[in-house]
Amino acid sequence: MSTIRFKALEQLINRQAVKVDVPEKKTSEYFAENVFDKQKMKSYLSQEAYDCVIDSIDNGTRIPRRIADQVASGMKAWALEKGATHYTHWFHPLTGSTAEKHDAFYEPSMSGNGIEMFDGGKLAQQEPDASSFPSGGLRNTFEARGYTAWDPSSPAFILEKTLCIPTIFISYTGEALDFKTPLLKATSALNDAAVAVCQYFDKDVTKVITTLGWEQEYFLVDSALFLARPDLQLTGRTLMGHASAKDQQLDDHYFGTIPSRVSAFMREFEIEAYKLGIPVKTRHNEVAPGQFECAPVFEEANLAVDHNMLLMDLMKKVARRHNFNVLLHEKPFKGISGSGKHNNFSMATNTGVNLLSPGKNPKSNMQFLVFLACTISAVYEYGDLLRASIATAGNEHRLGASEAPPSIMSVFLGSYLTSILDDIELRVSDKKMTPDEKTEIKLGIGRIPEILLDNTDRNRTSPFAFTGNRFEFRAAGASANCAAPMTFLCLGVADQLNKFKQNVDTKIENGIKKDEAIFQELKDLIVKSKPVRFDGNGYSKEWEEEAVRRGLSNPKGALAALEAFKNPKYINLCTSGKVFSEREVEARYEIRVENYTKKIQIESRVLGDLAENHIIPAVYRYQNELIENVRGLKEVLNEKDFNEIAELQLETIKDISRRVTAIKAKVTEMTEARKHANAIDDIVKKAQDYSDNVKPYLSEIREHIDHLEMIVDNEIWPLPKYRELLFSH
Ligand code: ADP
Ligand code: MG
Repeated sequence: MSTIRFKALEQLINRQAVKVDVPEKKTSEYFAENVFDKQKMKSYLSQEAYDCVIDSIDNGTRIPRRIADQVASGMKAWALEKGATHYTHWFHPLTGSTAEKHDAFYEPSMSGNGIEMFDGGKLAQQEPDASSFPSGGLRNTFEARGYTAWDPSSPAFILEKTLCIPTIFISYTGEALDFKTPLLKATSALNDAAVAVCQYFDKDVTKVITTLGWEQEYFLVDSALFLARPDLQLTGRTLMGHASAKDQQLDDHYFGTIPSRVSAFMREFEIEAYKLGIPVKTRHNEVAPGQFECAPVFEEANLAVDHNMLLMDLMKKVARRHNFNVLLHEKPFKGISGSGKHNNFSMATNTGVNLLSPGKNPKSNMQFLVFLACTISAVYEYGDLLRASIATAGNEHRLGASEAPPSIMSVFLGSYLTSILDDIELRVSDKKMTPDEKTEIKLGIGRIPEILLDNTDRNRTSPFAFTGNRFEFRAAGASANCAAPMTFLCLGVADQLNKFKQNVDTKIENGIKKDEAIFQELKDLIVKSKPVRFDGNGYSKEWEEEAVRRGLSNPKGALAALEAFKNPKYINLCTSGKVFSEREVEARYEIRVENYTKKIQIESRVLGDLAENHIIPAVYRYQNELIENVRGLKEVLNEKDFNEIAELQLETIKDISRRVTAIKAKVTEMTEARKHANAIDDIVKKAQDYSDNVKPYLSEIREHIDHLEMIVDNEIWPLPKYRELLFSH
């Protein structure tokens, strides 16, 4: 008898790298060919329409209907030339993936000659039936109307013959039902706050954009093996599986040679990404076997987020052509590094200055220090909110598990910047500084760039690390939409910049010189936010204890982290910047809590099924073989020899029986625990009950199964094993 596992393994024998159609052009010649970017707008739009769209992108101005009609007709002409047949509004509902509903351009007419139709109305707004998207009680299902509205700041693109128009998604009563709406508001709030502060240093600064460069980690698993693992299919992670004798202990995968099947896959999805204008740049193996990373060049945050969502989608599609499945779960394999998504964050001015890059002279360095200090104190003040923004059932396996940043939000600066900040703290006193003191400090600041250049000390254990010209937020999960952490980060930094500006202005009004006022305020920020700065080992026990002394929180688990959304201090931040209404924050909290419940509920069901229908029957088959064997021994051996030899066999038979009995009992208990939790109405209590009383069964049951995997005949074991999943690329 051949199990589904062996049928899958047989397919691997003939696996070859799939041939990729590499364009015979340079990348620059086909980059963004499927994007309605500025260049295409120029040739397909009137000057008036073009100027209007650019003004909307740069300054957020409204595009009048008459112009929208022109844009729609230009877009349609371009899309039809490219062979597109359909269009869709493309948005990020709070499900965590992207959504689209395609409509054909073609419309039949009474006379029989149908034509392709697309006008400003269809470009600007659609009303998808929104009742099946999560809304956290914002919209009752009978009020199913939500609408999508065009976001001109992210260009339209063609994906598989469909023109996709990036849009926001809001309820009929105006509440955001997506990730994009708050991100756009938060980056705009940060722009206002940052421009105001930049004015102290450079009057030419009129616009500040948020920049984001993400690094996406993922696993690849051969499709045949993937299909033989219902847990991977339905939950994205393995709910069972004994560790492979060899996994990542030799560290031989990181930056190793990329297997040819994988590199063919990478080439193809990169080509597809280039066509869509996604500037993918870096690819390499990650720490775990079968794990890889992809990173583009950074872009304006809203565009970068769209590109990340698009890329995740693209990867999945292209992988299938190469007989792979992409795993974006935060922790697909127990005991093996999980996957995260690093968010590299900075701010850039219209004058071409990266605000988190040390400048070349004391003046630009003061500006750098102000933005640095405001970012640090944003993490100090609102770290819990950042932590909450990435709290999910999947990421819960990763955070604090000695491989990913801990649950405690802290900032890594490196020794040189730390000494600069310490210096400012020591020297700037409340009384007026002497010109000598000022010069001394400014000289010290002036040295930052040279020294940072070769200051490459990196700390992989920090969730929020300064890496020379940007901060890297490392706690986001691989499957996350980066818009969530970016929104709260922008909000927090904007808030700190606003307060900085207010305080400096007050000091100036009270007769203190601008320079002096900035110094003093900078010092205050540095002193106040000091507890969040930590350069040591974030995985250590000592840090956990030290963090308590410093008053930093260390929420245990996703639900505890999500509590931040109920804290008035954080709600106030969200609402005062007009980025969220109170109801929207509440809705987001509810959606996340419900999502947590559902994830564990599904995992628990899948594990129950697998245990009963896949594992136990296979184990019984093997046990019967053992029993047959014992019977045979009894026939051929004398009593003394039999007793001696059969003892071991009988012990194995009994061990199997005990494990199977335990699995059955625990599956029954787990089902009861689920029933109990399902009967709870309050969604928070229900999630907590799932976490406390259902989730523990997942690891208890798994332990027995993993033990059995080591005993049972390899030929009989039904599910692909870790060594097969991880080492067949
Ligand atoms: P590492 O793995 O060493 O952190 P990578 O090269 O994989 O570095 O990724 C670094 C990311 O940071 C890239 O996406 C890069 O474009 C991005 N980045 C660089 N400068 C900035 C910046 N000013 N703002 C935002 N992201 C940036
Ligand atoms: Mg990085």
